[in-house]
Amino acid sequence: MRTLLRGGGVIAFDGTQHVHLRRGDVVFCGDRIEYAGPAWADRADAPVHQIIDTSGKLVMPGFVNMHLHVTDTAFTRGWLDDYGASAATGAASNVTALYTLLPAIRAAAMAEDQLAAAECAFSELLLSGSTTVVELGFDAEMGDRGDMATPRAVGNAAGRLGLRCYLAPRYRSRYWKMGANGAPAYFPYEGDGLPRMRACVELLADIDGTHEGRLRAMLAPGQVDTCEPALLRATRQVADETGYPVQLHAGQSPSEFRRIRQQHGCTTLEYVDRTGLLGRDLVLGHSMFFSESGDVDDCHAAELERLRDSGAHLCHLPWVKARQGTTMRSFAKYRRLGIPVCLGTDTYPFDMFNEMRMAAALCRVAEGSPQAVSAAEIFHAATVSGAQALQRPDLGRLAAGCQADIVLVDVSKPHAVPLRDGIQHLVLSACAADVDTVFVAGRLVVQRRELAHGNLVDAVARLAEAGERVHARVRVE
Ligand SMILES: [Zn+2]
Repeated sequence: MRTLLRGGGVIAFDGTQHVHLRRGDVVFCGDRIEYAGPAWADRADAPVHQIIDTSGKLVMPGFVNMHLHVTDTAFTRGWLDDYGASAATGAASNVTALYTLLPAIRAAAMAEDQLAAAECAFSELLLSGSTTVVELGFDAEMGDRGDMATPRAVGNAAGRLGLRCYLAPRYRSRYWKMGANGAPAYFPYEGDGLPRMRACVELLADIDGTHEGRLRAMLAPGQVDTCEPALLRATRQVADETGYPVQLHAGQSPSEFRRIRQQHGCTTLEYVDRTGLLGRDLVLGHSMFFSESGDVDDCHAAELERLRDSGAHLCHLPWVKARQGTTMRSFAKYRRLGIPVCLGTDTYPFDMFNEMRMAAALCRVAEGSPQAVSAAEIFHAATVSGAQALQRPDLGRLAAGCQADIVLVDVSKPHAVPLRDGIQHLVLSACAADVDTVFVAGRLVVQRRELAHGNLVDAVARLAEAGERVHARVRVE
């Protein structure tokens, strides 16, 4: 069936960048976009079966949300806020939350609770315009002790709702918690995490390409300081053999940076490079502390050059760290170095409009200039950069031949009128509640702000019950 979207504005892709057309057409057939641009000329060989009136809407590509955790986030909300060590010293930012509270909350979330959280998170993601998401699951720190049935069920939940999801169950050599001396302590997993990695790869081989190709595999070795070189080398080997992209949490805190230096005698980027993991298929989640200070200017020029030449992507998660008092310093500095940066939500809310606005504001504050980063650069990070990191030139843009992952944003509201620059509006003024209609692979998944393939009221009720159970079980040592 061929569908024509006509009547409103379009954010089309011209091959290099997104362009706001005040009036434009988008045509898609099956799961593919056939046309995005000014008025589509009727063609006898391409009859249109359905015309959707988009007046009062702005048609944009769905977000590529590159880093999130759907199984525990709901239970951490309200616990981790207003908590943790001062970030101002740069010494132990978020250490208490990461090493004490998070493990306790995760241990209290059983499989049933995790699935309730996942269902709501995926709903929230679709309703706020994310069409491709990367779900980074957990290891044995969860209440189900890392049962592989849980990530499988989580992936299926995303698939049923109509999302495009890269499932990335995590494995690592060791886990962490707060030690007696107030510093993180590390405890080894069986076989330094290699048996768990093999179990993850087996699951990924099984699920990759299911749900009409929307559920895909990604490798996710745990945080950089919890992975032995052998585990990262083994990851590189599997990635080369399978073509699965890889995401590694790295640059998350000053204590992580110090730990790598102490254990391996080098910086975090040098460590990742030595294991052979750097490459076009690698995403480094967080990417804030590649120097102890967190300032890019304090990194060695040679390691930044290696990072740039490798083609690896950084994943910026502005809101989760901003509420702990820190930020990437800076998005603009990495971009000036030619290092690609994509965006993700990490935790709550699962709302890419919020992340785009945070990324723009924090970079401008860090650099002290409104010209430090443009709205267009931020929108590119939220769409095209993520697609590039996944090696998917068919995602994150409205152009012929690309997947029909399309979002209709309501621009008839007071905060949108008059609409002079559609991209500036999306980054600096629009919000999740403006998302009206969403297609993924040409399939309608959100219609008039309602899920087409899920029951949000039931899902929220199940999550509320799960929250009662989990909060009652949490024991902070
Ligand atoms: Zn994360």
